Amino acid sequence: MMVGATLVVLLLWCSASVGVETGRPRYHNTVEMEAALRAVADACPDVTRLYSIGTSEEGRELWVLEISDNPGQHEPGEPEFRYTANIHGNEVLGRELLLYLANYLCSRYQAADSRVTRLVDETRIHLIPSLNPDGYEKAAELGHQSYRTSSAHGDYGRYNTRGVNLYRDFPGLGKVLFTNRNNNHKVQNNHLRIPDSYWSRQIANETKAFLKWAETYPFVLGANLHGGSLVAVYPFDLGQNPADLSSYSATADDELYRHLAGTYARAHPTMAKCGARVTCDNLNTTCNGGIKNGASWFSVPGSLLDYSYLGTNAMEVALELGCDKFPAPDELPRLWDDNREPLLSYLEQVHIGIKGFVRNNKGHVMPGAAISVQGIQHDITTAKDGDYWRLLVPGTYRVTAYWKSYEETKTCEVTRDGPATTCDFTLHTDLTSDMHSFLKNNIPDVEASTSGVAGQYQPCAAIAAYLITSTVTILYTILGQ
Ligand SMILES: [Zn+2]
Repeated sequence: MMVGATLVVLLLWCSASVGVETGRPRYHNTVEMEAALRAVADACPDVTRLYSIGTSEEGRELWVLEISDNPGQHEPGEPEFRYTANIHGNEVLGRELLLYLANYLCSRYQAADSRVTRLVDETRIHLIPSLNPDGYEKAAELGHQSYRTSSAHGDYGRYNTRGVNLYRDFPGLGKVLFTNRNNNHKVQNNHLRIPDSYWSRQIANETKAFLKWAETYPFVLGANLHGGSLVAVYPFDLGQNPADLSSYSATADDELYRHLAGTYARAHPTMAKCGARVTCDNLNTTCNGGIKNGASWFSVPGSLLDYSYLGTNAMEVALELGCDKFPAPDELPRLWDDNREPLLSYLEQVHIGIKGFVRNNKGHVMPGAAISVQGIQHDITTAKDGDYWRLLVPGTYRVTAYWKSYEETKTCEVTRDGPATTCDFTLHTDLTSDMHSFLKNNIPDVEASTSGVAGQYQPCAAIAAYLITSTVTILYTILGQ
């Protein structure tokens, strides 16, 4: 009996520590980080996939560890989530936290932990520990000690190798939205077109890779990990008045964003606790429950958060994980303890609100249909399998699904504790099966637009695709009636 019990304990211990390094805690350079990710992938081959979204300016791979019960494929109806870190190369904690998280999800999945099993089985999770490996290598040259003692080195390694602040290298869609509003144009409230002027300048390799990635996968929620303050930041990052450099700039989803940011802050031991807060030098944000609207801090053009919200379906917050951008290695285990529950709780928010499929009356799924919630001027669109996820705080909502002139409206209830409420829609388009499959494969969707994003913008291809799709859509609409 005793021997059996000991064996069980030993087995549990082994499975819980799989892939975890022993010895003193330390930072991982680019080569070691890749090895650490491979170790997790090797330890949990059934639920992981290691892939790269491209390379940095100096040729380092931008690795992603995917964790899902069916790695490598989008399961219709299952939401996709991303954590990304180290976009500022000298903000290094998030990079290590994502390695800890990868280890944790792998080992707890193997140990049949019910919470982690549910997360991995019901979510496709993508982790990028470093979006700026070149910057990290510079910051690491100085290391923790030098970094802390020399204010002259404050920004060393922050930017990419060409000096680009990657966080602010994204298409300035906030400006597009606000300009359209001010000019009283009919305002498109989602998937705004990236201005041609954006493509005419030199965009960082790291940014191009992120744009392609963000538009290829149907991400629903994400967070971008930073350091230098202790607060969860939500969009807009851009102020609505160019002259005003620090005024609140609310999105149509302000209540939802405050909930998302607050979820992280409240789960953290000190982020939301005003009395216990440490004040970071020169970054004295008022406490406000540990959350802050980006523009109310300082207005930032071309931010990752604003691009995600206005250019894709993904909601994203920026997590400032502490005053010290380069904590001492010995502090890493404690910092992981502080952030483990916040990281898990925030990840679970990808399952709030409503979700479902939009189909036509023949039962075929409809990609590219819009989901519009009454009272919130921000629609989201269905993915390639006709599936959608609309994050919402609890309440009763009038929701309309529409595609062209076809629409259906229904009431969807979001409860406080439950997982996302299923709200499916049927649009009476009368498209035949053949017509529909053609549309499904030719609708200007994420992958089509990605080709322009990945390399150079391809106007001829885009125009040709648009003309073909429009003609076919009109024909099918007429014939299908
Ligand atoms: Zn940062």
